[in-house]
Amino acid sequence: MRKKIVAGNWKMNKTLFQALELAEEVNQLVKDEVQNATEVILCPPFLYLVPVRDALGAGSPLKIGAQNCAAFTQGAFTGEIAADQIASASIPYVIIGHSERRSIFGETDGTLKTKVDLALANDLSPIFCCGEPLEIREAGTHEEMVKEQVTKALFHLDETELLKIVIAYEPVWAIGTGLTASAQQAQDMHKVIRNLLASKYGNPVADSISILYGGSVKASNAAEIFGMPDVDGGLIGGAALLAREFVNIVKCA
Ligand code: PEP
Repeated sequence: MRKKIVAGNWKMNKTLFQALELAEEVNQLVKDEVQNATEVILCPPFLYLVPVRDALGAGSPLKIGAQNCAAFTQGAFTGEIAADQIASASIPYVIIGHSERRSIFGETDGTLKTKVDLALANDLSPIFCCGEPLEIREAGTHEEMVKEQVTKALFHLDETELLKIVIAYEPVWAIGTGLTASAQQAQDMHKVIRNLLASKYGNPVADSISILYGGSVKASNAAEIFGMPDVDGGLIGGAALLAREFVNIVKCA
Protein backbone atom coordinates (compact mmCIF):
# COMPACT_ATOMS: atom_id res chain seq x y z
CA MET A 1 0.00 0.00 0.00
CA ARG A 2 1.47 3.34 -0.95
CA LYS A 3 2.12 6.09 1.56
CA LYS A 4 -0.20 9.05 2.12
CA ILE A 5 1.84 12.23 2.31
CA VAL A 6 1.06 15.87 3.00
CA ALA A 7 3.98 18.25 2.48
CA GLY A 8 4.01 21.96 3.27
CA ASN A 9 6.09 24.17 0.98
CA TRP A 10 6.75 27.36 2.90
CA LYS A 11 8.53 28.95 -0.08
CA MET A 12 10.31 32.23 0.82
CA ASN A 13 8.08 33.06 3.78
CA LYS A 14 8.57 33.60 7.53
CA THR A 15 11.38 34.97 9.66
CA LEU A 16 13.40 32.48 11.69
CA PHE A 17 11.35 33.09 14.80
CA GLN A 18 8.06 32.71 12.90
CA ALA A 19 9.30 29.54 11.22
CA LEU A 20 10.18 27.94 14.54
CA GLU A 21 6.84 28.96 15.97
CA LEU A 22 4.97 27.47 12.99
CA ALA A 23 6.96 24.22 13.09
CA GLU A 24 6.37 23.78 16.81
CA GLU A 25 2.66 24.49 16.47
CA VAL A 26 2.25 22.00 13.62
CA ASN A 27 4.28 19.44 15.56
CA GLN A 28 2.06 19.76 18.61
CA LEU A 29 -1.19 19.66 16.65
CA VAL A 30 -0.10 16.61 14.67
CA LYS A 31 0.91 14.81 17.89
CA ASP A 32 -2.36 15.72 19.62
CA GLU A 33 -4.88 15.34 16.82
CA VAL A 34 -3.73 13.34 13.82
CA GLN A 35 -4.78 9.72 13.96
CA ASN A 36 -4.03 8.66 10.41
CA ALA A 37 -0.68 7.31 9.21
CA THR A 38 -0.06 10.20 6.83
CA GLU A 39 3.56 11.29 6.50
CA VAL A 40 3.79 15.01 7.19
CA ILE A 41 6.71 16.92 5.69
CA LEU A 42 7.66 20.55 6.34
CA CYS A 43 9.75 22.30 3.68
CA PRO A 44 11.05 25.56 5.15
CA PRO A 45 13.61 27.84 3.47
CA PHE A 46 17.18 26.45 3.46
CA LEU A 47 18.31 28.72 6.28
CA TYR A 48 15.76 27.22 8.65
CA LEU A 49 16.14 23.52 7.84
CA VAL A 50 18.51 22.77 10.70
CA PRO A 51 16.86 25.02 13.32
CA VAL A 52 13.46 23.54 12.44
CA ARG A 53 14.89 20.01 12.55
CA ASP A 54 16.36 20.72 16.00
CA ALA A 55 13.21 22.41 17.28
CA LEU A 56 11.10 19.39 16.31
CA GLY A 57 13.44 17.00 18.06
CA ALA A 58 14.20 13.35 17.41
CA GLY A 59 10.81 12.04 18.53
CA SER A 60 8.77 14.21 16.19
CA PRO A 61 6.36 12.54 13.76
CA LEU A 62 7.20 15.24 11.19
CA LYS A 63 9.78 14.97 8.42
CA ILE A 64 11.70 17.83 6.83
CA GLY A 65 12.41 18.61 3.20
CA ALA A 66 14.43 21.19 1.29
CA GLN A 67 12.70 23.19 -1.44
CA ASN A 68 15.45 22.72 -4.02
CA CYS A 69 19.00 21.49 -4.50
CA ALA A 70 21.81 22.47 -6.82
CA ALA A 71 22.45 20.75 -10.13
CA PHE A 72 26.14 20.51 -9.18
CA THR A 73 28.03 18.41 -6.68
CA GLN A 74 30.22 21.05 -5.00
CA GLY A 75 32.50 23.98 -5.61
CA ALA A 76 32.30 27.54 -6.90
CA PHE A 77 28.51 27.96 -7.15
CA THR A 78 27.83 30.94 -4.91
CA GLY A 79 24.46 30.77 -3.22
CA GLU A 80 23.70 27.18 -4.18
CA ILE A 81 23.13 24.24 -1.79
CA ALA A 82 24.16 20.75 -2.89
CA ALA A 83 22.22 17.54 -2.35
CA ASP A 84 25.00 16.07 -0.23
CA GLN A 85 24.97 19.16 2.00
CA ILE A 86 21.23 18.69 2.54
CA ALA A 87 21.73 15.00 3.27
CA SER A 88 24.59 15.76 5.65
CA ALA A 89 22.11 17.75 7.78
CA SER A 90 19.85 14.66 8.01
CA ILE A 91 17.11 16.20 5.87
CA PRO A 92 15.40 13.30 4.05
CA TYR A 93 13.34 15.02 1.33
CA VAL A 94 13.93 17.59 -1.40
CA ILE A 95 11.40 19.24 -3.73
CA ILE A 96 12.65 19.17 -7.32
CA GLY A 97 11.11 20.95 -10.29
CA HIS A 98 8.56 23.16 -8.57
CA SER A 99 6.87 25.28 -11.24
CA GLU A 100 8.39 28.43 -9.71
CA ARG A 101 11.85 26.93 -10.24
CA ARG A 102 10.93 26.05 -13.81
CA SER A 103 9.33 29.37 -14.75
CA ILE A 104 11.25 31.95 -12.68
CA PHE A 105 14.67 30.28 -12.59
CA GLY A 106 14.56 28.63 -16.01
CA GLU A 107 15.06 25.06 -14.84
CA THR A 108 14.70 22.65 -17.73
CA ASP A 109 13.78 18.96 -17.80
CA GLY A 110 17.50 18.25 -18.29
CA THR A 111 18.46 20.24 -15.19
CA LEU A 112 15.79 18.47 -13.18
CA LYS A 113 17.01 15.07 -14.33
CA THR A 114 20.47 15.98 -13.01
CA LYS A 115 18.99 17.17 -9.71
CA VAL A 116 16.99 13.97 -9.33
CA ASP A 117 20.18 11.95 -9.87
CA LEU A 118 22.14 14.00 -7.33
CA ALA A 119 19.35 13.72 -4.78
CA LEU A 120 19.14 9.94 -5.17
CA ALA A 121 22.92 9.55 -5.10
CA ASN A 122 22.80 11.20 -1.68
CA ASP A 123 19.91 9.12 -0.45
CA LEU A 124 17.40 11.97 -0.50
CA SER A 125 13.83 11.30 -1.57
CA PRO A 126 12.88 13.73 -4.34
CA ILE A 127 9.38 15.21 -4.41
CA PHE A 128 9.30 15.69 -8.16
CA CYS A 129 6.84 18.33 -9.39
CA CYS A 130 5.14 18.41 -12.75
CA GLY A 131 2.18 20.31 -14.14
CA GLU A 132 0.95 22.37 -17.03
CA PRO A 133 0.35 26.13 -17.40
CA LEU A 134 -3.11 27.45 -18.24
CA GLU A 135 -2.53 27.87 -21.98
CA ILE A 136 -1.55 24.21 -22.30
CA ARG A 137 -4.63 23.11 -20.35
CA GLU A 138 -6.78 25.28 -22.63
CA ALA A 139 -5.09 23.86 -25.73
CA GLY A 140 -5.91 20.36 -24.47
CA THR A 141 -2.31 19.11 -24.54
CA HIS A 142 -1.83 18.97 -20.76
CA GLU A 143 -1.54 15.19 -20.58
CA GLU A 144 1.19 15.13 -23.22
CA MET A 145 3.11 17.87 -21.44
CA VAL A 146 3.00 16.22 -18.03
CA LYS A 147 3.94 12.84 -19.51
CA GLU A 148 6.93 14.49 -21.17
CA GLN A 149 8.03 16.16 -17.91
CA VAL A 150 7.87 12.85 -16.06
CA THR A 151 9.53 10.88 -18.85
CA LYS A 152 12.42 13.29 -19.34
CA ALA A 153 13.31 13.64 -15.67
CA LEU A 154 12.57 10.16 -14.33
CA PHE A 155 12.49 7.46 -16.99
CA HIS A 156 16.24 6.85 -16.95
CA LEU A 157 15.90 5.59 -13.35
CA ASP A 158 15.87 1.94 -12.50
CA GLU A 159 13.02 0.46 -10.47
CA THR A 160 14.77 0.76 -7.09
CA GLU A 161 15.53 4.42 -7.75
CA LEU A 162 12.03 5.20 -8.96
CA LEU A 163 10.56 3.75 -5.79
CA LYS A 164 12.27 6.54 -3.82
CA ILE A 165 10.44 9.24 -5.79
CA VAL A 166 7.29 11.05 -4.75
CA ILE A 167 5.50 12.80 -7.61
CA ALA A 168 3.52 16.00 -7.12
CA TYR A 169 1.11 16.99 -9.87
CA GLU A 170 0.62 20.73 -9.63
CA PRO A 171 -1.26 22.45 -12.43
CA VAL A 172 0.45 25.85 -12.65
CA TRP A 173 -2.89 27.63 -13.08
CA ALA A 174 -3.95 26.37 -9.65
CA ILE A 175 -0.82 27.31 -7.70
CA GLY A 176 -1.39 30.28 -5.41
CA THR A 177 -4.34 31.44 -7.50
CA GLY A 178 -7.23 30.17 -5.42
CA LEU A 179 -8.30 28.12 -8.48
CA THR A 180 -8.24 24.43 -7.66
CA ALA A 181 -8.41 21.60 -10.12
CA SER A 182 -11.61 19.68 -9.57
CA ALA A 183 -11.19 16.38 -7.79
CA GLN A 184 -11.95 14.67 -11.12
CA GLN A 185 -9.35 16.74 -13.01
CA ALA A 186 -6.77 15.78 -10.38
CA GLN A 187 -7.76 12.12 -10.51
CA ASP A 188 -7.64 12.07 -14.31
CA MET A 189 -4.07 13.41 -14.42
CA HIS A 190 -2.90 11.23 -11.55
CA LYS A 191 -4.24 8.21 -13.43
CA VAL A 192 -2.40 9.32 -16.57
CA ILE A 193 0.83 9.56 -14.57
CA ARG A 194 0.30 6.19 -12.89
CA ASN A 195 -0.48 4.51 -16.21
CA LEU A 196 2.65 6.06 -17.68
CA LEU A 197 4.74 4.67 -14.81
CA ALA A 198 3.06 1.28 -15.25
CA SER A 199 3.90 1.25 -18.96
CA LYS A 200 7.61 1.29 -18.15
CA TYR A 201 7.94 -0.14 -14.64
CA GLY A 202 4.87 -2.38 -14.36
CA ASN A 203 1.78 -2.14 -12.17
CA PRO A 204 3.28 -3.13 -8.79
CA VAL A 205 5.86 -0.31 -9.02
CA ALA A 206 3.37 2.24 -10.36
CA ASP A 207 0.95 1.33 -7.59
CA SER A 208 3.65 1.93 -4.97
CA ILE A 209 4.46 5.53 -5.99
CA SER A 210 2.73 8.29 -4.02
CA ILE A 211 1.32 10.96 -6.33
CA LEU A 212 0.40 14.19 -4.54
CA TYR A 213 -1.87 16.94 -5.80
CA GLY A 214 -0.87 20.59 -5.35
CA GLY A 215 -2.67 23.81 -6.21
CA SER A 216 -4.73 25.87 -3.76
CA VAL A 217 -5.55 22.94 -1.49
CA LYS A 218 -7.38 24.06 1.64
CA ALA A 219 -9.03 22.25 4.53
CA SER A 220 -12.35 22.88 2.80
CA ASN A 221 -11.46 21.06 -0.45
CA ALA A 222 -8.80 18.56 0.70
CA ALA A 223 -11.13 15.71 1.64
CA GLU A 224 -12.76 15.59 -1.79
CA ILE A 225 -9.45 15.75 -3.68
CA PHE A 226 -7.61 13.30 -1.39
CA GLY A 227 -10.58 10.96 -1.62
CA MET A 228 -9.82 10.20 -5.28
CA PRO A 229 -8.27 6.76 -5.80
CA ASP A 230 -5.01 7.94 -7.39
CA VAL A 231 -4.46 10.99 -5.17
CA ASP A 232 -2.17 10.10 -2.28
CA GLY A 233 -2.08 13.43 -0.47
CA GLY A 234 -0.96 16.95 -1.26
CA LEU A 235 1.81 19.48 -1.68
CA ILE A 236 0.50 22.56 0.07
CA GLY A 237 1.72 26.15 -0.39
CA GLY A 238 -0.22 29.04 1.13
CA ALA A 239 -2.29 26.92 3.50
CA ALA A 240 0.88 25.39 4.96
CA LEU A 241 1.73 28.74 6.52
CA LEU A 242 -1.20 28.41 8.93
CA ALA A 243 -0.71 25.60 11.45
CA ARG A 244 -4.39 24.92 12.13
CA GLU A 245 -5.37 24.95 8.44
CA PHE A 246 -2.42 22.75 7.48
CA VAL A 247 -3.14 20.16 10.15
CA ASN A 248 -6.80 20.10 9.16
CA ILE A 249 -5.61 19.28 5.63
CA VAL A 250 -3.39 16.49 7.01
CA LYS A 251 -6.44 15.00 8.70
CA CYS A 252 -8.14 14.65 5.30
CA ALA A 253 -5.40 12.44 3.82
C1 PEP B 1 2.78 25.05 -4.24
O1 PEP B 1 3.40 26.08 -4.40
O2 PEP B 1 3.35 23.95 -4.31
C2 PEP B 1 1.35 25.15 -4.00
C3 PEP B 1 0.61 24.09 -4.18
O3 PEP B 1 0.89 26.37 -3.60
P1 PEP B 1 -0.62 26.73 -3.17
O4 PEP B 1 -1.09 25.66 -2.25
O5 PEP B 1 -0.49 28.06 -2.47
O6 PEP B 1 -1.42 26.82 -4.42
